[in-house]
Amino acid sequence: MPFKDECGVFGISSQEEAARQTYLGLYALQHRGQEAAGMCTREGGILHQHKAPGHVADVFSASTLDSLHGDAAIGHTRYSSNGSFASHEAQPFMVYGRFGPLALCHNGNIINTELLRNKLLEDGHTFNSMSDSEVILALINTSKANNLEDAVEDALRQIIGAFSLLILSDKHLIAVKDPHGLRPLSVAKLGESSMLGEPSIVFASESCAFDLLGAEYMRELEAGEMLIQSSDGLHSRFPNKRCPAKPCVFEHVYFARPDSYVFMRNVMATRRAMGRQLAIQHPVDADVVIPVPDSGVHAALGYAEQSGIRFEFGMIRNHYVGRTFIEPKQSIRSFGVKVKLNPVKDLLHGRRVVLIDDSIVRGTTSKKIVGMVRDVGAKEVHVRISSPPTTHPCFYGIDTPTVEHLIASSKSTEEIRQFIGADSLDYINLEGLYTAMQDKGGCGFCYACFNGNYPIPRT
Ligand code: AMP
Ligand code: SF4
Repeated sequence: MPFKDECGVFGISSQEEAARQTYLGLYALQHRGQEAAGMCTREGGILHQHKAPGHVADVFSASTLDSLHGDAAIGHTRYSSNGSFASHEAQPFMVYGRFGPLALCHNGNIINTELLRNKLLEDGHTFNSMSDSEVILALINTSKANNLEDAVEDALRQIIGAFSLLILSDKHLIAVKDPHGLRPLSVAKLGESSMLGEPSIVFASESCAFDLLGAEYMRELEAGEMLIQSSDGLHSRFPNKRCPAKPCVFEHVYFARPDSYVFMRNVMATRRAMGRQLAIQHPVDADVVIPVPDSGVHAALGYAEQSGIRFEFGMIRNHYVGRTFIEPKQSIRSFGVKVKLNPVKDLLHGRRVVLIDDSIVRGTTSKKIVGMVRDVGAKEVHVRISSPPTTHPCFYGIDTPTVEHLIASSKSTEEIRQFIGADSLDYINLEGLYTAMQDKGGCGFCYACFNGNYPIPRT
């Protein structure tokens, strides 16, 4: 089974301290993947690499960073949806081929990998992993084109799916977005620490990585864009036919950091707008608005703002526990909720509580949280969700379970309410989400996990 990767990618050029800057960038993108981290740096025509399972701070020591010489780098934080993560799946991937050394890291999911891999295997190619990234590198190196840019274009015309890629060669740093622009990738410049008088170009999945470096945000890459940084400066190519952009709305609902700009919008602001829409659509008589931290915080602020009901941090999160979903085994996941969240009895006892979260996937988290809030004596528990029911799985790199494990694919809202044990349960509807995203008509984003309208036909 191919791996689906919802990950963080970071790249930088013309920067004396490329490894240390990449380390900072990956640190800021840690929330996008906690299973493994890695980077490749470029020193002259040579690439150096270090990658391992674990968090960024554990994977890189000061001496490791000192050994990663060079003035350009790409890096990656990773989680996969396939529980059997192995260390050789960590990214970036590096090969020596027709175009010299080449490293690549990837956020997304290529849906025709199996077909492409089988074709390459028939032609005698060998692979070290099941990763999409290795297939893309193989396509580049087996292209008949006689320069790297054309060979990358060749590869991009064959792969189908959601991808934001960074490719580092001995002369280029190339950033790529898939034709629908499903996964985020932005570009910034870092003027002050420039070499040779030229600003560094920085790429990252989310703008929070630029903030940490003091880089100046320029823009989100366009859907289908291939943005090339070389000694000739920056230039763009569009290898595939242009099609309407369908960026992933779930980045705004849940995945991205609230301080980031993703798809040119501030995540905190869109989450707050979702909360306001939720309060308009589903008001309730209650004493206190409580977020499920951290995912429900900004929607809860919006809900409180719109409803006039007081906001309180009625559940405290232990920040030293990873996101429940990122732990691969069901037994750990359920346990994680208890380890992660603790209700504050003094704020909840005897109160009518509106509990706000961003989504219900399997329903196990909400069920446990409602139970915990009741255990400390809440009088009523009303659950409000700032996205519509998750009825369809994602094939574009967000880790969602198969359809039979998505509680909303087979149960009505009333049945889910009974399952989680709430006094009432309501979700924002699609129109409310369109309004919050300022997406009139709902054509500007992918909403497939909520409505089943997949922008890329299944192969
Ligand atoms: P559950 O309903 O128990 O499967 O979990 C739902 C919770 O997981 C929600 O509170 C979300 O904040 C969070 N969540 C939703 N989708 C994802 C995802 N793809 N990866 C990690 N966490 C997620
Ligand atoms: Fe994002 Fe959902 Fe579309 Fe996947 S299906 S890309 S999670 S909006």
